Amino acid sequence: NKPAPALEICGLRKSYGEKEAVKGIDLTIQPGEFYGLLGPNGAGKTTTLKMVVGLLNPSAGSIHVFGTDTAADPVAAKRQIAWLPDEPMLYDKLTPVEYLEFVAGLWGIDARTATDRAEELLTRLELFDHRHERCEGFSRGMKQKAALAGALIHDPRLLILDEPLTGLDAAIARQVKDLLAERARAGCTIILTTHIMEVAERLVDRIGIIQHGLLLAEGTLDELRQRHGRDGASLEDL
Ligand code: ATP
Repeated sequence: NKPAPALEICGLRKSYGEKEAVKGIDLTIQPGEFYGLLGPNGAGKTTTLKMVVGLLNPSAGSIHVFGTDTAADPVAAKRQIAWLPDEPMLYDKLTPVEYLEFVAGLWGIDARTATDRAEELLTRLELFDHRHERCEGFSRGMKQKAALAGALIHDPRLLILDEPLTGLDAAIARQVKDLLAERARAGCTIILTTHIMEVAERLVDRIGIIQHGLLLAEGTLDELRQRHGRDGASLEDL
């Protein structure tokens, strides 16, 4: 028996009033894949991901996460997903430990497990020494790491991240990339959007290009470069 895909999107559409932002996307991502979504601003990447994570209702089409229909059983689907938005919201008055315990509580994780996971994530992301400081004093990168820890606290099988490396300094970008690579090696499925070619080049296995609400092309970076080279467009411009 073949395992269900990590993500299977069929005929996905989304309109905001008159504006059709996503115009019929089909996309299948297998368990363990590290997938990058590229495309110009306004192409429909964020809208697509928000439908997958249950923040927007599709106008049409279906989404399955490890075989679970997200419309039929949104809670079961969400349990398997981590979502890191492009501008994550933290509760600034909380410390990272308080924040992670709060998020863990929302997932119904027992206190002991929450403490263990929080400690492991904060150590892994080099925030442990700041665990009792309020997030309001943190740099953008530190906030991003705290938000990432919050996204991972329920130990999801599918990580979905919107521009996770944009605006981070080199040291923090390195820590985040290392963590993602490590999760990928451990078998986690990861989907991210990025404008950073180095991320597309070094981190992801396969790339999908979204433009004007459609999935235009898929392949490895080398395959896409060859194809794009032929029609004159530049991947680096995306
Ligand atoms: P970016 O890289 O800038 O985030 P994107 O590929 O993620 O771009 P989306 O944010 O999904 O693109 O936007 C797709 C289109 O839908 C854009 O034209 C955008 O202006 C429009 N759009 C997005 N959110 C809304 C909204 N809440 N109401 C109306 N239009 C919206």
